[in-house]
Amino acid sequence: MGDESTSGENTSGESASDESTSGEGARRDGASETAQRERAVLGAVPSGLLIGGAWADAAAAATFDVTDPSTGGVIRTVADADADDGIRALDAAVVAQDSWAATPPRTRSDILRRAFDLVRERSEDLALLMTLEMGKPLAESRAEVVYGAEFLRWFSEEAVRVSGRYGQNPEGSGRMIVSQRPVGPVLLITPWNFPLAMATRKIGPALAAGCTVVVKPASLTPLTTLALAGLMQEAGVPAGVLNVLTTTRSGAVSAAIMADPRLRKLSFTGSTEVGRGLLAQAADGVLRVSMELGGNAPFLVFEDADLDRAVEGAMVAKFRNIGEACTAANRFIVHESLAEVFTKRVAERVRAMRVGRGTEAGVQIGPLIDERAVTKASSLLRDAVDRGATVHTGGAVLRGTFFAPTVVSGVPAGAEILRQEIFGPVLAISAFADEDEAVRLANDTEFGLVSYVYTRDLARGHRMIDRLETGMMGLNVGVVSNAAAPFGGVRQSGLGREGGPEGIHEYLATKYTLLPND
Ligand code: NAP
Repeated sequence: MGDESTSGENTSGESASDESTSGEGARRDGASETAQRERAVLGAVPSGLLIGGAWADAAAAATFDVTDPSTGGVIRTVADADADDGIRALDAAVVAQDSWAATPPRTRSDILRRAFDLVRERSEDLALLMTLEMGKPLAESRAEVVYGAEFLRWFSEEAVRVSGRYGQNPEGSGRMIVSQRPVGPVLLITPWNFPLAMATRKIGPALAAGCTVVVKPASLTPLTTLALAGLMQEAGVPAGVLNVLTTTRSGAVSAAIMADPRLRKLSFTGSTEVGRGLLAQAADGVLRVSMELGGNAPFLVFEDADLDRAVEGAMVAKFRNIGEACTAANRFIVHESLAEVFTKRVAERVRAMRVGRGTEAGVQIGPLIDERAVTKASSLLRDAVDRGATVHTGGAVLRGTFFAPTVVSGVPAGAEILRQEIFGPVLAISAFADEDEAVRLANDTEFGLVSYVYTRDLARGHRMIDRLETGMMGLNVGVVSNAAAPFGGVRQSGLGREGGPEGIHEYLATKYTLLPND
């Protein structure tokens, strides 16, 4: 089933006999220049823990390796924090909390704005770093830098717009003041799939609101957060306001911090399974929580859809970020009159996709993050095929962690691929007969992050807004993320919203004060 023509190595259009000696020399020079640049970018990343404004080794001097998922090779070694380091980081956040909360909003805003400028200035380095540790194509890393930086700019603007209410009580006996206060020190836990944006989407609003933070990036991709923290220091973030812990002992480190009554909030992005466990832990201290969890997005194509648009939307909704996005379309639910032509059109596009190391020009699909991800995509696909689905292109591991982009149709009810997040480049299609069936299939999941709907019928579009149980919807578009929009899910996809005017309120506590008239 593997389609070798999709492999990056086979698409250069050159054969060994065509190459002149000087061509080889030029290529060698180019390759060594690239390798040099990669080394320089990796070498510039701080490797310690950021605690109280200083970079330091883990107290036990432990370290761990970070690898490039396209080769499995070690690219950097960083500090491996333990629970004691976690408490030291919380100490620093607690010490800095009062003065950061008292810092004028305009000052906090200016610092975030400088951080935005610095991230944009260093976008090429950050993009390369992300591609090296996570694997996504360089063009997508660049897009993530733009998207991720926007949260710093947006919340630099929101920092000075926090307001309250003042008014007489209905009885006329007193005056009511409603104000907003920073929640206090926050633990931020982020995933590996969007190493920059998931960090800025939390750090931006937390700092804007006047909260200090301890950030724990995923152990698979800690480098981007470390580089970002360096830039934020350069932008003027005071000591202790932003602390970073890299660790392979996430559970132990976060449990120690969460058990400390000085922590006021947890903001987590990751899997529903881990989120559920953290929610249970948060209950002990009645911590405020924000949870951005897993998805299982339906992508509905109605019989009146603009097919060109639907195919275009499907390609981004499915294959952006190698399919490793919580917003990735997981279930393509297509009207039976269009299922065949839609399948044919997307399969043609997918067959032409270029797979390779994310740093190579023109690559659209990089490696999956690790062996576990490959096993999951493979077994979900096998289950669907065993139940009678048909593979049109792809369907196999090309080499290492490179999985061929795949289109599979006729996926029957009950297939595991319809229940679980695929988190890989597999586009799974099922057919429906009428609108009620489409809605029933779309809502047949415990998740509720995002849905995509393709229809030319405005009234139907409005009905879908009401009937689909998701926190977000793309109506004739395949990507919805925007710093100005409230991102988040319903049901087991999470609690709270990140981004938009709503985002800063995740880090603010409402305070009501009553005073007499005289
Ligand atoms: P994950 O395994 O849940 O890990 C997420 C983060 O939690 C990582 O930093 C991880 O650290 C940490 N972690 C793991 N176990 C922990 C524990 N017992 N206690 C405390 N922290 C723990 O998820 P992932 O594989 O990195 O990310 C993929 C998932 O994230 C998918 O389900 C995706 O849908 C979801 N996601 C959701 C959104 C959204 O906005 N809704 C956005 C992006 C991703 P380690 O690296 O050390 O394991």
